[in-house]
Amino acid sequence: MSATSTKLSLTTKVMIGMGAGFVLGVILNMLQIGWINSNIVGGLFGMVGRMFVNALQMLVVPLVFFSLICGVAGIGDIRILGRVGGRSFALYLLTTATAIAVAILIALIVAPGDGFTIEGVDTSGVTGKEAPTVWETFAAIVPRNPVASFAAGEMLQIIFYTIILGVAALMLGERSTKFVDACEYMNELMMKVVEIVMAFAPYGVFCLIAKTFTEQGIGLFLPVMTYVLVLVGALLLHLFVTLMFYLKVFSGLDPFIFMKKIRPAQIFAFSTASSNATIPVTLRAVTERMGVTNSVASFTVPFGATINMDGTAIMQGVATVFLANVYGIDLGVGGYLTVIGMAVLASIGTAGVPGVGMVMLTMVLGQVGLPIEGIALILGVDRLMDMIRTAVNITGDAVVTAIVAKTEGQIDMDVYRDPTAGVVID
Ligand code: ASP
Repeated sequence: MSATSTKLSLTTKVMIGMGAGFVLGVILNMLQIGWINSNIVGGLFGMVGRMFVNALQMLVVPLVFFSLICGVAGIGDIRILGRVGGRSFALYLLTTATAIAVAILIALIVAPGDGFTIEGVDTSGVTGKEAPTVWETFAAIVPRNPVASFAAGEMLQIIFYTIILGVAALMLGERSTKFVDACEYMNELMMKVVEIVMAFAPYGVFCLIAKTFTEQGIGLFLPVMTYVLVLVGALLLHLFVTLMFYLKVFSGLDPFIFMKKIRPAQIFAFSTASSNATIPVTLRAVTERMGVTNSVASFTVPFGATINMDGTAIMQGVATVFLANVYGIDLGVGGYLTVIGMAVLASIGTAGVPGVGMVMLTMVLGQVGLPIEGIALILGVDRLMDMIRTAVNITGDAVVTAIVAKTEGQIDMDVYRDPTAGVVID
C-alpha cells in the first residue's frame, strides 16, 4: 500500500470511529440494556478508551521535553525566545479575557436560568476549592524538584525547567552539540511513538465517544437546556468568529485553511476532553500541516494547553450568569469583572485535563459569593460541554501559535497553503 493511501485511510477511520461511536452510544442510551451498558460499554469500551488516553498522556512529557530543547536550540537567540514567550502570553490572556467577556454579555442578554429552582437537586458531593492568589500561581511555576515535576506532569514547571536547560545549552555553544543532537534524535523517536499510538486512534475514539453518549441521555439536557444552548452558542461564536477574527487581524493568515488544518486536533480534543493529552496531535497539526517551526510550536502549544482555556472560561462565564439567575442574585458589574479576572487567572495554573473547568468554577463561584452547590445543576451535562470546550481550547492554542509564528517569520507559507501537507498526522 502506498504511504498516501495509508495516511488517508487513517483520517477516514478516525472520523468513522467517531460517527459510529456516536450512533451506537445514542442507541444504547435509548435501549438501556443493563448488562451491555455495564459490561461492554462501562467495562470494555471504558478500558480501551482509557488505554488510548493513557497512551496519549504517556507521550506528553517526553515529547514536550525533547521538542522544547530542540526548539530553544533551534531558535538560537534568547531574545527571540523572550519575544515568543511574551507575545504568546499576552495573546493567551487577550483571547481568554475576550472569550469570557463575550460569553457573560451573551448570557446576560439571554438570561438562562431565570425562573429555575435548585430544590430537589442532589447537591451532596459538591465541594468547593479555594482560589490560589496570583502570587502563589506564579511562584508555583518554578519547580523545587524537577524530577517530581516531570513525574507529576506539571506542565508549567516542566516548560520552565526545560527552557532554562535549553538556554544553558545555548550558552555552552559547541560543547553542548552532543546533547542537542541526542535530543533531536529523541524527538524524532518520540514522533515515531506518536505515530504508533495514532494507529489506534480510530478504536480509542470510537470507544470514548460510544461510552460518553451511552451514559449521557438526552433527559439530562432538558432541564438545563437554556444553559446548554447559550453555552454552545457562545463556544461556537468564539471558535468561528472571535478566534478567526484575531487570526486574520494579527497574522493575515487565511482562517478557512486554518480551520481545515486544525481539525484532527479538534477531533482528539473532543474525544478525550483533555488539552494536555491532545498536545502531541496539536503539535503535529501546527508543524506538519501548517508549517510552523518546531522552535515556536514546541513552546506555545504545551504552554497554551496549560494556561490558555478560552472554552473553559466561556463555560465559567455562562455558568455564573445561569446560577446567579437561578439564585436570584445580582452580581453587578464589579462581580462580573471579578469573574473575568478569576477565570483568566485560574486557567493559568490549572492543567488541561477532563473536568478541571468545574473545579475552577467552584473557585469563581466562591469568590463572588454564589452557592457552590449550584454546580450540581449543570454537572450532569458537563462531560459533553467539556468535550466541546476542550476543542475550543486547543483551537485557541493553535491560533496563538500561528499568529506568533507568522509575526516572527517562523511559518512556511508553502506548507500552510498546501492542502495535502501533513495528512500523516491524522
Ligand atoms: N478539559 C478541558 C481541557 O483539557 C479543561 C476543562 O474545561 O475542564 O482543556
